[in-house]
Amino acid sequence: MKRRFSKQTFTMGIFLFLILFSVKISAENVSPVTITQLERPIIRYEVIVPDVGEFVTLKCDFHMHTVFSDGYVWPDLRVIEAWVTGLDAIAITDHIENDRDRPFLSGDDNSSYELAKGAAERYGIILIKGGEITREQPYGHYNALFLKDVNLVDNEDPFTAIENAVKQGAFIQWNHPDWNSATRNQFEFQKKLLEKGYLHGVEISNRANWYPYVIDWALENNLTMMGNSDLHGIIMGELQLDKFQRPMTLVFAKEKTEQGIREALDNKRTVVWLADLINGREEWVSKLFLSCVRFGKIQVSNPEKKEGQIRLENISDIPWSLRLMGPVAQGTYRLEPRSSMLVRTRGQGNTKVIVTNAWVKTGTNLQIEVNLE
Ligand SMILES: [Zn+2]
Ligand SMILES: [Zn+2]
Repeated sequence: MKRRFSKQTFTMGIFLFLILFSVKISAENVSPVTITQLERPIIRYEVIVPDVGEFVTLKCDFHMHTVFSDGYVWPDLRVIEAWVTGLDAIAITDHIENDRDRPFLSGDDNSSYELAKGAAERYGIILIKGGEITREQPYGHYNALFLKDVNLVDNEDPFTAIENAVKQGAFIQWNHPDWNSATRNQFEFQKKLLEKGYLHGVEISNRANWYPYVIDWALENNLTMMGNSDLHGIIMGELQLDKFQRPMTLVFAKEKTEQGIREALDNKRTVVWLADLINGREEWVSKLFLSCVRFGKIQVSNPEKKEGQIRLENISDIPWSLRLMGPVAQGTYRLEPRSSMLVRTRGQGNTKVIVTNAWVKTGTNLQIEVNLE
């Protein structure tokens, strides 16, 4: 019995030894494993919009917030988001009035610019100093862009606040004018600003909101058309970037600098891009379209019937919806970003094209004649 007992003990001892040994082996050989596929460098998703004539096309967003007003992100993240989503320039426009419940961040209204400046230099993003002058209706919200000192703008009276910004050479943009929809026909405050020359631009779009009736209002009052994101949270949480590019103002500038952007805004060389909608002055929407879409040479397949086909190529990331009105080509087409298509032709010569996703007046699409041959 004793021997048998000791044999059992011996077997158990070996068994335990093996377990301990194997544990020891595992502990020595298992090290942390990095799932490399999960890691990635910071990637910039380029947005392709060609230059227009002698002007460089800059992708800009002139309206967004940070923790320094009612936003949820630190200022330099706005720069990184801009770089990742293919922009060239941004303005961080925190609400200027210190009426937010932000006891830890109250104080200097230049802070968001100062904290984003370094990142802007590193990422090559043009950062424009700005702020949002914020009042209840019937006044509304105004972005003051290209400010020198945001602190000097603050004033209890909204007109004086805007005047303070203009005195610094600011460009004043009326934000989300739809917020005035209850009093859409009573633009008393805006009229006063226009008379003084204190209003320079207006948003045709803000975040996912589109104000097509403002296109005519901007034309009548000679204002620059703008379209911006008005981000408050992180961009991934606010916009469907898998479906659309972020809302942006396309600026046709003489040079890729802050001064270049300012000169273009002063001369109203902009187009507003929201989802698959393009809005702007006819001249610039037309020039942009013709820079993006190329009409090839007609390939004749049946000389007797003068039948053939032509290749339409979209070299941009802007989708274009077309109605070809004849006589050479007819039909409704959608030319997706960076794609081309073949369209049937009969004969050759001028053909009317209506670009049904491009708005040059309230309720009016871009219409052009192209010579197909
Ligand atoms: Zn606002
Ligand atoms: Zn805002």
